[in-house]
Amino acid sequence: MIKRVLLGLLLVLLALVAAVAVNTWRTPSRQLAVPAAPKLSVDVDAAAKRLAGAIPIRTISSLDDIAGNNAEFDKLHAYLAQQFPQVHATLKREVVGQKALLYTWTGSDPAAKPIALMAHQDMVPIAPGTEKAWSVDPFAGVIKDGYVWGRGALDNKGNLFAQMEAIELLIGSGFKPRQTVYLVMGDDEEVSGLRGAVPIVELLKSRNVRLDWVLDEGLLVLDGVLPGLSKPAALIGLAEKGYATFFLSLDTAPGHSSMPPARSAIGSMSAALARLEATPMPGGIQGVAGEMFGTLAPEMSGMNRVMLSNLWLTGALVTSQLEKSPSSNAMLRTTTALTIVRAGNKDNVLPGRAEAAVNFRVLPGDSLASVEAHLRKALGNDAIQIKAYPGNSEPSPVSPTDSAGYLAVQKAVREVFTDAVVAPGLMTAATDSRHFTGLSDSVYRFSPFRVKNEDLARFHGNNERLAISNYAEMIQFYHQLLRNTAQPQ
Ligand SMILES: [Zn+2]
Repeated sequence: MIKRVLLGLLLVLLALVAAVAVNTWRTPSRQLAVPAAPKLSVDVDAAAKRLAGAIPIRTISSLDDIAGNNAEFDKLHAYLAQQFPQVHATLKREVVGQKALLYTWTGSDPAAKPIALMAHQDMVPIAPGTEKAWSVDPFAGVIKDGYVWGRGALDNKGNLFAQMEAIELLIGSGFKPRQTVYLVMGDDEEVSGLRGAVPIVELLKSRNVRLDWVLDEGLLVLDGVLPGLSKPAALIGLAEKGYATFFLSLDTAPGHSSMPPARSAIGSMSAALARLEATPMPGGIQGVAGEMFGTLAPEMSGMNRVMLSNLWLTGALVTSQLEKSPSSNAMLRTTTALTIVRAGNKDNVLPGRAEAAVNFRVLPGDSLASVEAHLRKALGNDAIQIKAYPGNSEPSPVSPTDSAGYLAVQKAVREVFTDAVVAPGLMTAATDSRHFTGLSDSVYRFSPFRVKNEDLARFHGNNERLAISNYAEMIQFYHQLLRNTAQPQ
């Protein structure tokens, strides 16, 4: 009898192992097979000098001082016109809002829907006190050790100048796009996009423009960042998370601290916040994260491949592993961050009011309303007043992976970054492209930067720099992407 049970168990185990093995090795690669593009002849040193020449132009945007840096933006506009004469002779250029730029490169096929490439002119300042942590002057436009150094080299003058270089080359070779191409270059992306991208969207709407697809800055070519993947992963952002801050307040009777009540405002608020933090919003490997891991699994090796190819069996385990790292946890769910807490101003007085702020980053599929309902329930205290911050935004819609836009970006990546695999991904930060979701169903977020783990902190951080060898690839990427729009996919 025992023998028979053991035999039965062994058979079940064997079947399970067989199923896992079959799933692992039979899941086909989803990578597009295309030949490498012939290497574009670019004078990359001259191009790097043009980019470095824009680094000293301090196009820093500010939320409050709206026009403070207008002169710097004017300088950048003049510099672009001087450095890219053919672009400026061929494309129509409009200054929109204050200093945002819209270029129109009219296509040969009036029936074809236009496309838009985006990049932003503005950048973040150097955080006070961090200047010394830079190995070069962040605004000198230094070229050293094969890199262009300085604030904006990656975010986002790198993209903007690479697009300009590509178009200058294309015009020089007699190329005409089939689809009209818009270049959208906001001047306040880092502080909202309300003064740059939004008026451009309104202008295009007033002209009845519908876009076939949009490509903005976004996810990167990650090298050695994803465990189990030896090849670089070029991730194309299909969506970006929403932003939701709620202000909480709790009023109680103030009093003398010599006779405190059992429950103070501070104690009640703290208990509610602790409950909230202990109750994350539900999540898992689904939606965009599911598509990403499903696409990457066949490209992986070892246990990572086995685990990700068999989520029917390993889902709970893999999810709990991913939840341990804040960056991968952010791909799986709407995150909850306690950001402000405030109460009391004298050591012997019980405050009558305790306040707090909570910031959520909202996963596509959740909404501002569902987050607020979760918040109310998790706090577990109806006496707490909840007020939504007026600047909250819903998550973006999720763009498809079978559209002409996704296929074009994917193809150009595979043609130029021949060692990389392509997968869809989720942007956990905001870009100007979120304002364009009313103009197109196909909005993608990808920056052709090669980055290793240590480079991630250079965005908005110290020692921002762009490898000149990578810059050559970036120029070729946009060149290839635009060339591909001339012929049907
Ligand atoms: Zn940016």
